[in-house]
Amino acid sequence: MKLEKSIELYTKGKKHLVGAVNSPVRAFKSVGGVPLFIDRAKGSKIIDVDGNEYVDMVLSYGPMILGHRNSVVEKTIKKYLKKGYSFGASTRGEIILAGMVCDAFPGMDKVRFVNSGTEAVLSAIRLARAFTGKNKIIKFAGCYHGHSDALLVAAGSGLATLSIPGSKGVPEDAVKNTLIAEFNNIDSVERHLAENKDIAAVIFEPIAGNMGVVLPTQEFIEELRELTKASGVLLIADEVMTGFRSKFGGAQELLGIEADITCLGKVVGGGFPVGAYGARNEIMEMVSPLGEMYQAGTLSGNPIAMSCGIATLKELKKRNPYEDFEKTAAFLERVLLDAANENGVDLQVNRFGSMINPFFTKEKVVDFKSAQTSDVKKFKTFFWKMIENGVFLPPSQFESWFLATAMSKRDIYKVKSAIQIAMKAVA
Ligand code: PLP
Repeated sequence: MKLEKSIELYTKGKKHLVGAVNSPVRAFKSVGGVPLFIDRAKGSKIIDVDGNEYVDMVLSYGPMILGHRNSVVEKTIKKYLKKGYSFGASTRGEIILAGMVCDAFPGMDKVRFVNSGTEAVLSAIRLARAFTGKNKIIKFAGCYHGHSDALLVAAGSGLATLSIPGSKGVPEDAVKNTLIAEFNNIDSVERHLAENKDIAAVIFEPIAGNMGVVLPTQEFIEELRELTKASGVLLIADEVMTGFRSKFGGAQELLGIEADITCLGKVVGGGFPVGAYGARNEIMEMVSPLGEMYQAGTLSGNPIAMSCGIATLKELKKRNPYEDFEKTAAFLERVLLDAANENGVDLQVNRFGSMINPFFTKEKVVDFKSAQTSDVKKFKTFFWKMIENGVFLPPSQFESWFLATAMSKRDIYKVKSAIQIAMKAVA
Protein backbone atom coordinates (compact mmCIF):
# COMPACT_ATOMS: atom_id res chain seq x y z
CA MET A 1 0.00 0.00 0.00
CA LYS A 2 1.36 3.42 -0.98
CA LEU A 3 1.76 5.86 1.92
CA GLU A 4 4.75 7.84 0.67
CA LYS A 5 3.12 11.25 0.75
CA SER A 6 1.73 10.66 4.24
CA ILE A 7 5.25 9.68 5.34
CA GLU A 8 6.66 12.81 3.73
CA LEU A 9 4.12 15.09 5.42
CA TYR A 10 4.57 13.33 8.73
CA THR A 11 8.31 13.91 8.55
CA LYS A 12 7.86 17.57 7.60
CA GLY A 13 5.02 18.09 10.06
CA LYS A 14 7.10 17.02 13.06
CA LYS A 15 9.27 20.11 12.69
CA HIS A 16 6.67 22.66 13.75
CA LEU A 17 3.75 20.55 15.02
CA VAL A 18 4.01 18.40 18.11
CA GLY A 19 4.11 14.84 16.80
CA ALA A 20 2.89 16.33 13.49
CA VAL A 21 -0.66 16.48 14.88
CA ASN A 22 -3.04 18.79 16.71
CA SER A 23 -4.75 16.08 18.75
CA PRO A 24 -2.85 13.07 20.10
CA VAL A 25 -5.01 10.18 18.82
CA ARG A 26 -4.32 11.33 15.23
CA ALA A 27 -0.68 10.30 15.68
CA PHE A 28 -1.60 6.56 15.44
CA LYS A 29 0.64 5.96 18.46
CA SER A 30 -1.17 2.87 19.71
CA VAL A 31 -1.33 1.22 16.29
CA GLY A 32 2.16 2.25 15.16
CA GLY A 33 3.09 3.19 11.64
CA VAL A 34 2.64 6.47 9.86
CA PRO A 35 -0.49 8.52 10.58
CA LEU A 36 -2.59 9.11 7.49
CA PHE A 37 -2.70 12.62 6.11
CA ILE A 38 -6.04 13.39 4.50
CA ASP A 39 -6.49 15.28 1.29
CA ARG A 40 -10.27 15.34 0.88
CA ALA A 41 -13.53 13.58 1.55
CA LYS A 42 -16.93 13.21 -0.03
CA GLY A 43 -19.98 11.29 1.14
CA SER A 44 -18.93 8.09 2.89
CA LYS A 45 -15.35 8.23 1.58
CA ILE A 46 -12.17 9.84 2.79
CA ILE A 47 -9.08 10.06 0.58
CA ASP A 48 -5.53 10.39 1.83
CA VAL A 49 -2.72 12.39 0.22
CA ASP A 50 -1.48 9.26 -1.57
CA GLY A 51 -4.87 8.84 -3.24
CA ASN A 52 -5.96 5.84 -1.14
CA GLU A 53 -9.72 5.84 -0.64
CA TYR A 54 -11.41 4.53 2.50
CA VAL A 55 -14.94 4.07 3.80
CA ASP A 56 -14.75 6.53 6.68
CA MET A 57 -15.83 5.12 10.04
CA VAL A 58 -13.95 7.80 11.97
CA LEU A 59 -16.13 10.62 10.63
CA SER A 60 -14.00 13.19 12.43
CA TYR A 61 -14.67 11.27 15.68
CA GLY A 62 -18.41 11.71 15.29
CA PRO A 63 -19.52 15.05 13.85
CA MET A 64 -19.91 13.95 10.22
CA ILE A 65 -23.12 11.98 10.76
CA LEU A 66 -24.36 12.79 7.25
CA GLY A 67 -21.01 11.91 5.70
CA HIS A 68 -18.76 14.49 4.09
CA ARG A 69 -19.85 17.51 2.11
CA ASN A 70 -23.55 16.82 2.19
CA SER A 71 -24.95 18.96 -0.64
CA VAL A 72 -27.66 20.70 1.42
CA VAL A 73 -25.23 21.52 4.21
CA GLU A 74 -22.59 22.73 1.81
CA LYS A 75 -25.04 24.99 -0.02
CA THR A 76 -26.09 26.54 3.29
CA ILE A 77 -22.52 27.15 4.42
CA LYS A 78 -21.64 28.79 1.10
CA LYS A 79 -24.64 31.09 1.40
CA TYR A 80 -23.60 32.20 4.89
CA LEU A 81 -19.92 32.59 3.97
CA LYS A 82 -20.93 35.43 1.68
CA LYS A 83 -22.38 37.35 4.63
CA GLY A 84 -19.17 37.40 6.67
CA TYR A 85 -17.41 35.04 9.05
CA SER A 86 -17.61 36.46 12.55
CA PHE A 87 -19.23 39.55 14.03
CA GLY A 88 -18.88 39.58 17.80
CA ALA A 89 -22.61 40.24 17.97
CA SER A 90 -25.67 38.03 17.93
CA THR A 91 -27.20 36.55 14.78
CA ARG A 92 -30.47 34.90 13.81
CA GLY A 93 -28.69 31.55 13.32
CA GLU A 94 -27.89 31.27 17.03
CA ILE A 95 -31.57 31.64 17.90
CA ILE A 96 -32.62 29.05 15.33
CA LEU A 97 -30.05 26.47 16.46
CA ALA A 98 -30.86 27.15 20.13
CA GLY A 99 -34.54 26.45 19.38
CA MET A 100 -33.70 23.19 17.62
CA VAL A 101 -31.47 22.02 20.46
CA CYS A 102 -33.99 22.88 23.20
CA ASP A 103 -36.79 21.15 21.25
CA ALA A 104 -34.69 17.99 20.99
CA PHE A 105 -33.73 17.88 24.69
CA PRO A 106 -36.71 18.37 27.02
CA GLY A 107 -34.36 19.09 29.94
CA MET A 108 -33.10 22.26 28.23
CA ASP A 109 -35.01 25.53 28.35
CA LYS A 110 -31.92 27.50 27.45
CA VAL A 111 -28.60 26.71 25.86
CA ARG A 112 -25.24 28.46 25.55
CA PHE A 113 -23.04 27.78 22.53
CA VAL A 114 -19.30 27.43 22.91
CA ASN A 115 -16.56 26.19 20.57
CA SER A 116 -15.84 22.62 21.67
CA GLY A 117 -17.01 19.75 23.83
CA THR A 118 -14.26 20.55 26.31
CA GLU A 119 -15.59 24.06 26.79
CA ALA A 120 -19.16 22.81 27.08
CA VAL A 121 -18.26 20.44 29.88
CA LEU A 122 -15.97 22.73 31.85
CA SER A 123 -18.68 25.40 31.72
CA ALA A 124 -21.34 22.89 32.81
CA ILE A 125 -19.23 21.97 35.83
CA ARG A 126 -18.79 25.63 36.74
CA LEU A 127 -22.54 26.10 36.38
CA ALA A 128 -23.31 23.12 38.62
CA ARG A 129 -20.99 24.54 41.26
CA ALA A 130 -22.55 27.99 40.94
CA PHE A 131 -26.07 26.61 41.24
CA THR A 132 -25.50 24.26 44.16
CA GLY A 133 -22.82 26.27 45.98
CA LYS A 134 -20.88 23.00 46.31
CA ASN A 135 -17.45 22.07 45.01
CA LYS A 136 -16.94 18.38 44.37
CA ILE A 137 -17.90 16.41 41.31
CA ILE A 138 -18.12 12.69 40.66
CA LYS A 139 -16.96 11.27 37.35
CA PHE A 140 -16.71 7.69 36.15
CA ALA A 141 -13.44 5.90 35.40
CA GLY A 142 -13.00 5.62 31.64
CA CYS A 143 -15.36 8.47 30.75
CA TYR A 144 -13.71 11.34 28.88
CA HIS A 145 -15.09 14.83 29.20
CA GLY A 146 -12.53 16.88 27.34
CA HIS A 147 -9.13 18.09 28.48
CA SER A 148 -9.91 20.60 31.24
CA ASP A 149 -7.77 20.14 34.36
CA ALA A 150 -10.45 18.89 36.75
CA LEU A 151 -11.62 16.18 34.37
CA LEU A 152 -8.31 14.69 33.31
CA VAL A 153 -8.56 11.91 35.83
CA ALA A 154 -9.16 8.28 34.81
CA ALA A 155 -10.26 9.70 31.49
CA GLY A 156 -10.52 6.90 28.93
CA SER A 157 -9.74 6.87 25.20
CA GLY A 158 -6.77 9.11 24.31
CA LEU A 159 -5.33 8.73 27.76
CA ALA A 160 -6.07 5.01 27.93
CA THR A 161 -4.46 4.60 24.54
CA LEU A 162 -1.32 6.34 25.67
CA SER A 163 -1.40 4.60 29.08
CA ILE A 164 -1.16 7.91 30.89
CA PRO A 165 -3.07 7.86 34.18
CA GLY A 166 -3.71 11.60 34.16
CA SER A 167 -1.68 14.40 32.68
CA LYS A 168 1.47 16.22 33.67
CA GLY A 169 0.82 19.89 34.29
CA VAL A 170 -2.44 19.32 36.14
CA PRO A 171 -1.91 20.49 39.73
CA GLU A 172 -3.15 18.21 42.49
CA ASP A 173 -5.32 21.06 43.67
CA ALA A 174 -7.17 21.06 40.33
CA VAL A 175 -8.33 17.47 40.77
CA LYS A 176 -8.81 17.35 44.52
CA ASN A 177 -12.52 17.96 44.04
CA THR A 178 -12.93 15.21 41.44
CA LEU A 179 -14.12 11.90 42.85
CA ILE A 180 -14.01 8.73 40.75
CA ALA A 181 -16.80 6.14 40.64
CA GLU A 182 -17.13 2.94 38.60
CA PHE A 183 -19.41 2.87 35.55
CA ASN A 184 -22.40 0.54 36.00
CA ASN A 185 -21.74 0.40 39.74
CA ILE A 186 -24.27 2.49 41.64
CA ASP A 187 -22.75 1.53 45.01
CA SER A 188 -19.57 3.39 44.09
CA VAL A 189 -21.64 6.56 43.58
CA GLU A 190 -23.68 6.01 46.70
CA ARG A 191 -20.52 5.64 48.81
CA HIS A 192 -19.20 9.04 47.66
CA LEU A 193 -22.55 10.69 48.28
CA ALA A 194 -22.78 9.19 51.75
CA GLU A 195 -19.22 10.25 52.69
CA ASN A 196 -19.35 13.71 51.20
CA LYS A 197 -21.79 16.53 51.59
CA ASP A 198 -19.96 18.93 49.27
CA ILE A 199 -20.93 17.32 45.94
CA ALA A 200 -22.29 19.60 43.20
CA ALA A 201 -22.74 17.13 40.36
CA VAL A 202 -22.26 13.70 38.89
CA ILE A 203 -21.09 13.83 35.29
CA PHE A 204 -21.43 10.85 33.00
CA GLU A 205 -21.38 9.77 29.38
CA PRO A 206 -24.78 8.07 29.01
CA ILE A 207 -23.10 5.73 26.54
CA ALA A 208 -19.45 5.63 27.39
CA GLY A 209 -17.89 6.09 23.95
CA ASN A 210 -14.45 6.88 25.26
CA MET A 211 -13.56 3.43 26.54
CA GLY A 212 -14.76 1.86 23.32
CA VAL A 213 -18.52 1.65 23.55
CA VAL A 214 -19.74 0.71 27.01
CA LEU A 215 -23.44 0.60 27.68
CA PRO A 216 -25.04 1.36 31.00
CA THR A 217 -27.64 -1.02 32.37
CA GLN A 218 -31.08 0.55 32.46
CA GLU A 219 -31.12 -0.07 36.20
CA PHE A 220 -27.86 1.83 36.69
CA ILE A 221 -29.12 4.82 34.72
CA GLU A 222 -32.42 4.96 36.57
CA GLU A 223 -30.77 4.59 39.97
CA LEU A 224 -28.24 7.27 39.07
CA ARG A 225 -31.05 9.67 38.22
CA GLU A 226 -33.01 8.88 41.39
CA LEU A 227 -30.01 8.97 43.67
CA THR A 228 -28.74 12.35 42.41
CA LYS A 229 -32.21 13.86 42.64
CA ALA A 230 -32.69 12.58 46.18
CA SER A 231 -29.27 13.95 47.21
CA GLY A 232 -29.76 17.42 45.70
CA VAL A 233 -26.87 16.76 43.33
CA LEU A 234 -27.09 17.79 39.67
CA LEU A 235 -26.78 15.12 37.00
CA ILE A 236 -24.75 16.25 33.99
CA ALA A 237 -25.16 14.18 30.83
CA ASP A 238 -22.16 14.60 28.58
CA GLU A 239 -23.79 13.95 25.22
CA VAL A 240 -20.94 15.48 23.23
CA MET A 241 -20.63 12.16 21.41
CA THR A 242 -24.19 10.81 21.64
CA GLY A 243 -26.22 14.00 21.11
CA PHE A 244 -28.21 13.73 17.85
CA ARG A 245 -26.26 10.56 17.09
CA SER A 246 -28.04 7.74 18.87
CA LYS A 247 -31.39 9.45 18.49
CA PHE A 248 -32.31 13.06 17.72
CA GLY A 249 -32.81 13.64 21.45
CA GLY A 250 -29.55 11.87 22.26
CA ALA A 251 -28.98 8.92 24.54
CA GLN A 252 -31.30 10.49 27.11
CA GLU A 253 -34.23 10.00 24.75
CA LEU A 254 -33.36 6.35 24.21
CA LEU A 255 -32.68 5.66 27.85
CA GLY A 256 -35.73 7.59 29.01
CA ILE A 257 -34.04 9.93 31.48
CA GLU A 258 -33.62 13.68 31.79
CA ALA A 259 -30.39 15.12 33.12
CA ASP A 260 -30.18 18.50 34.88
CA ILE A 261 -27.49 19.82 32.55
CA THR A 262 -26.69 18.47 29.09
CA CYS A 263 -23.46 19.00 27.17
CA LEU A 264 -23.27 18.78 23.41
CA GLY A 265 -20.61 18.99 20.73
CA LYS A 266 -19.63 17.15 17.53
CA VAL A 267 -22.89 16.61 15.52
CA VAL A 268 -24.42 19.89 16.72
CA GLY A 269 -21.79 21.71 14.64
CA GLY A 270 -21.87 19.28 11.72
CA GLY A 271 -18.06 19.47 11.40
CA PHE A 272 -17.53 23.08 12.50
CA PRO A 273 -16.35 23.88 16.05
CA VAL A 274 -19.51 24.04 18.17
CA GLY A 275 -20.16 22.90 21.70
CA ALA A 276 -23.18 23.64 23.86
CA TYR A 277 -24.47 23.29 27.38
CA GLY A 278 -28.01 23.75 28.49
CA ALA A 279 -30.46 23.18 31.32
CA ARG A 280 -33.80 24.30 32.66
CA ASN A 281 -34.34 28.03 33.22
CA GLU A 282 -33.61 28.18 36.95
CA ILE A 283 -30.13 26.71 36.33
CA MET A 284 -29.29 28.61 33.12
CA GLU A 285 -30.28 31.90 34.71
CA MET A 286 -27.10 31.63 36.77
CA VAL A 287 -25.07 32.21 33.58
CA SER A 288 -23.78 35.68 32.73
CA PRO A 289 -25.32 38.10 31.63
CA LEU A 290 -28.43 36.95 33.59
CA GLY A 291 -26.48 35.60 36.53
CA GLU A 292 -23.07 35.64 38.08
CA MET A 293 -21.47 32.56 36.61
CA TYR A 294 -19.09 33.97 34.03
CA GLN A 295 -18.42 32.24 30.73
CA ALA A 296 -17.68 33.83 27.35
CA GLY A 297 -16.15 33.29 23.90
CA THR A 298 -14.90 35.46 21.02
CA LEU A 299 -16.02 32.97 18.39
CA SER A 300 -18.93 31.38 20.29
CA GLY A 301 -22.05 31.06 18.15
CA ASN A 302 -19.97 31.69 15.04
CA PRO A 303 -22.39 32.29 12.14
CA ILE A 304 -20.81 29.79 9.74
CA ALA A 305 -20.68 27.12 12.43
CA MET A 306 -24.31 27.84 13.34
CA SER A 307 -25.40 27.57 9.70
CA CYS A 308 -23.65 24.22 9.40
CA GLY A 309 -25.25 22.99 12.64
CA ILE A 310 -28.72 24.10 11.57
CA ALA A 311 -28.46 22.48 8.13
CA THR A 312 -27.07 19.26 9.63
CA LEU A 313 -29.83 18.98 12.22
CA LYS A 314 -32.53 19.80 9.64
CA GLU A 315 -31.25 17.05 7.38
CA LEU A 316 -31.09 14.61 10.25
CA LYS A 317 -34.61 15.40 11.31
CA LYS A 318 -35.88 14.99 7.76
CA ARG A 319 -34.10 11.69 7.17
CA ASN A 320 -34.61 10.20 10.64
CA PRO A 321 -31.83 7.63 10.02
CA TYR A 322 -31.82 6.09 13.49
CA GLU A 323 -33.63 2.84 12.67
CA ASP A 324 -31.40 2.27 9.67
CA PHE A 325 -28.33 2.93 11.78
CA GLU A 326 -29.54 0.34 14.27
CA LYS A 327 -29.99 -2.26 11.51
CA THR A 328 -26.59 -1.56 9.97
CA ALA A 329 -24.86 -1.73 13.34
CA ALA A 330 -26.63 -5.03 14.10
CA PHE A 331 -25.45 -6.36 10.73
CA LEU A 332 -21.84 -5.33 11.42
CA GLU A 333 -22.00 -6.87 14.87
CA ARG A 334 -23.05 -10.18 13.27
CA VAL A 335 -20.26 -9.91 10.69
CA LEU A 336 -17.66 -9.23 13.39
CA LEU A 337 -18.83 -12.07 15.63
CA ASP A 338 -19.10 -14.58 12.76
CA ALA A 339 -15.63 -13.68 11.51
CA ALA A 340 -14.24 -13.99 15.05
CA ASN A 341 -15.93 -17.39 15.51
CA GLU A 342 -14.66 -18.72 12.22
CA ASN A 343 -11.12 -17.72 13.11
CA GLY A 344 -11.16 -18.64 16.81
CA VAL A 345 -10.68 -15.03 17.94
CA ASP A 346 -12.08 -13.94 21.31
CA LEU A 347 -14.27 -10.95 20.62
CA GLN A 348 -16.94 -8.85 22.29
CA VAL A 349 -18.95 -6.34 20.29
CA ASN A 350 -20.62 -3.41 22.01
CA ARG A 351 -22.91 -1.09 20.11
CA PHE A 352 -25.53 1.58 20.60
CA GLY A 353 -27.32 3.25 17.71
CA SER A 354 -24.72 4.29 15.19
CA MET A 355 -21.78 3.61 17.51
CA ILE A 356 -20.06 0.23 17.47
CA ASN A 357 -16.83 -1.17 18.87
CA PRO A 358 -15.21 -4.62 18.96
CA PHE A 359 -13.01 -5.61 21.89
CA PHE A 360 -10.52 -8.45 21.51
CA THR A 361 -11.33 -10.15 24.79
CA LYS A 362 -13.31 -13.03 26.29
CA GLU A 363 -14.62 -10.80 29.04
CA LYS A 364 -17.94 -8.99 28.72
CA VAL A 365 -17.10 -5.27 28.56
CA VAL A 366 -19.16 -3.33 31.09
CA ASP A 367 -16.67 -0.82 32.51
CA PHE A 368 -13.18 0.62 32.07
CA LYS A 369 -11.49 -2.35 33.76
CA SER A 370 -13.08 -4.91 31.45
CA ALA A 371 -12.49 -2.65 28.39
CA GLN A 372 -8.80 -2.72 29.21
CA THR A 373 -8.68 -6.52 28.96
CA SER A 374 -8.87 -6.09 25.18
CA ASP A 375 -5.76 -7.32 23.38
CA VAL A 376 -4.43 -4.11 21.84
CA LYS A 377 -1.84 -6.01 19.77
CA LYS A 378 -4.66 -7.84 18.03
CA PHE A 379 -6.44 -4.54 17.51
CA LYS A 380 -3.29 -3.15 15.90
CA THR A 381 -3.12 -6.02 13.37
CA PHE A 382 -6.85 -5.69 12.72
CA PHE A 383 -6.61 -1.92 12.27
CA TRP A 384 -3.89 -2.03 9.61
CA LYS A 385 -5.62 -4.83 7.67
CA MET A 386 -8.78 -2.71 7.64
CA ILE A 387 -6.76 0.24 6.33
CA GLU A 388 -5.16 -1.94 3.64
CA ASN A 389 -8.62 -3.06 2.64
CA GLY A 390 -10.09 0.40 2.39
CA VAL A 391 -11.73 1.09 5.76
CA PHE A 392 -10.62 4.00 7.94
CA LEU A 393 -11.15 3.17 11.63
CA PRO A 394 -10.18 5.19 14.69
CA PRO A 395 -6.56 4.25 15.44
CA SER A 396 -7.40 3.27 18.99
CA GLN A 397 -9.03 0.31 20.66
CA PHE A 398 -10.92 2.72 22.89
CA GLU A 399 -12.64 4.88 20.29
CA SER A 400 -16.03 4.08 18.80
CA TRP A 401 -16.60 3.41 15.10
CA PHE A 402 -19.34 5.59 13.67
CA LEU A 403 -21.96 5.23 10.94
CA ALA A 404 -23.11 7.98 8.57
CA THR A 405 -26.24 8.34 6.45
CA ALA A 406 -23.99 8.60 3.37
CA MET A 407 -22.89 4.96 3.73
CA SER A 408 -24.40 2.78 1.03
CA LYS A 409 -25.03 -0.98 1.08
CA ARG A 410 -21.94 -1.27 -1.09
CA ASP A 411 -19.86 0.56 1.54
CA ILE A 412 -21.13 -1.74 4.26
CA TYR A 413 -20.28 -4.82 2.17
CA LYS A 414 -16.82 -3.39 1.67
CA VAL A 415 -16.51 -3.08 5.46
CA LYS A 416 -17.76 -6.67 5.77
CA SER A 417 -15.14 -8.13 3.46
CA ALA A 418 -12.41 -6.04 5.11
CA ILE A 419 -13.50 -7.42 8.51
CA GLN A 420 -13.34 -10.98 7.20
CA ILE A 421 -9.79 -10.48 5.90
CA ALA A 422 -8.65 -8.56 8.98
CA MET A 423 -10.02 -11.14 11.42
CA LYS A 424 -8.09 -13.91 9.61
CA ALA A 425 -4.92 -11.88 10.08
CA VAL A 426 -5.65 -11.50 13.80
CA ALA A 427 -6.13 -15.26 14.35
N1 PLP B 1 -17.05 14.77 26.00
C1 PLP B 1 -17.09 13.64 25.28
C2 PLP B 1 -18.05 12.57 25.66
C3 PLP B 1 -16.26 13.47 24.18
O1 PLP B 1 -16.31 12.34 23.48
C4 PLP B 1 -15.36 14.51 23.84
C5 PLP B 1 -14.44 14.37 22.71
O2 PLP B 1 -14.24 13.34 22.15
C6 PLP B 1 -15.36 15.68 24.62
C7 PLP B 1 -16.22 15.78 25.69
C8 PLP B 1 -14.45 16.82 24.27
O3 PLP B 1 -14.88 17.41 23.10
P1 PLP B 1 -13.87 18.28 22.21
O4 PLP B 1 -12.87 17.32 21.65
O5 PLP B 1 -14.75 18.90 21.16
O6 PLP B 1 -13.26 19.28 23.09
